[in-house]
Amino acid sequence: MAKVWPTMTWSVEMTPVDFISKSIVTFSQNFKIAKHKIFHLINANRKSSEKLCDILIEEGYELTKVPFEEWCDKVASMDEPQLREGQPSVKQMLRAVTDSRDSSLFFNDATFDQTVFTEVARSVMDEEYPKIDSLLIKTYIRNLSRRRILVIPQREAKLPLQSKVALITGASSGIGKAVAEQLAMAGAKVCLCARRGERLFEVRDGIVRSGGFAKVYKLDVSNRQQFIDVAKKIQDECGQIDILMNNAGLMYYTHIHNIMQDDWDRMVNVNCIGITNSLAAVLPGMLERKNGHIINTSSDAGRRGFAGLAVYSGTKFFVEGLSQALRHEVKDKGIRVTCIQPGDVKTELLTHTNDHDAKAAYDGSESCRILDPEDVGKAVLYAVTQPEHVGVNEILIEPRENPI
Ligand code: NDP
Repeated sequence: MAKVWPTMTWSVEMTPVDFISKSIVTFSQNFKIAKHKIFHLINANRKSSEKLCDILIEEGYELTKVPFEEWCDKVASMDEPQLREGQPSVKQMLRAVTDSRDSSLFFNDATFDQTVFTEVARSVMDEEYPKIDSLLIKTYIRNLSRRRILVIPQREAKLPLQSKVALITGASSGIGKAVAEQLAMAGAKVCLCARRGERLFEVRDGIVRSGGFAKVYKLDVSNRQQFIDVAKKIQDECGQIDILMNNAGLMYYTHIHNIMQDDWDRMVNVNCIGITNSLAAVLPGMLERKNGHIINTSSDAGRRGFAGLAVYSGTKFFVEGLSQALRHEVKDKGIRVTCIQPGDVKTELLTHTNDHDAKAAYDGSESCRILDPEDVGKAVLYAVTQPEHVGVNEILIEPRENPI
């Protein structure tokens, strides 16, 4: 029987159980702040059932949206496998709806105010209410499939990056981590590179738990030989590198008159030399195979100079210049080059600045709702899933309230 989904205005409430339990424990441990307050842990931001259906279809489930009445007919006439005695079948569980043909049983008119929760959570927890986005829902679907609770859809081959190998530098946090998650969910084998091994293993574990493939490779991008060795190891263990994301980077605000040469050198070594080391290690293989996609994380500071970021902007102008010229050189060799140019993103990048006066003078990241790493991850996923003849040269992605 064709699988059908009822079309109706119903929004689904989903709240990750680990978030609920963490909230309860945290509030209990911070009794002074939490006392006399009522917290709604129910998610106020629901997912429409239409959107949920679209995500299931994207994941390979063959579903057809039909009017509610038609869906009731189909459910009422469906055959069901024999269940254990006393166990209600899906059909029986839905009988109240299908017999009455009353779709309002699905509607949720209740609303929940999260103001108190948000205020208190901000002061005692290091995370906000989880976004119920397609990544989370896909994670649920994959896990339920792996546990055989949901039937695994017959569409493994449809994943857009199936069996592609992606090397991502700076994958231990922020943008690199988000890109790794997005590419892994699209079927890529992601090779996570950075210096902090423990953080890389955490990222890997998250991806593997979600049904993806990830491996850890400790790497300091400013070290030529290490890059060559890691690229070789990846090739031996995972296959040829199809996608190379040069994302590792450092940014220090500095007043130029403070002459913070150590900070400047570190930025040049990672943001510029790191990329030339990467190209030396990975580009030859791509040229040989006449195939590959290189993504360089530049910045909006690679499009214009920002006060307090003279050297950083300089390194990102280097990334832009290198990418533009490289794109022309390799365009006939099947290789694409994309520069991703984010504005302020909520990551650990700013926490490393040593010149605190410069940071206080120039950092504007608190002035508006800035980007989440996932926003950039999705932009990269877009670039790498375009057909072969399409070159996404640049993606400038800014907080809406802070255009360049
Ligand atoms: P994070 O600080 O969260 O991430 C930086 C990453 O770079 C970490 O994974 C770090 O890993 C890695 N890294 C730093 N030095 C080295 C090194 N020598 N060798 C290998 N890896 C290294 O910041 P973001 O995610 O924000 O930064 C990622 C990129 O995005 C950078 O290139 C940054 O310039 C760019 N960007 C960021 C913006 C923002 O507002 N956050 C805006 C525009 C661009 P580890 O320490 O484990 O080695």
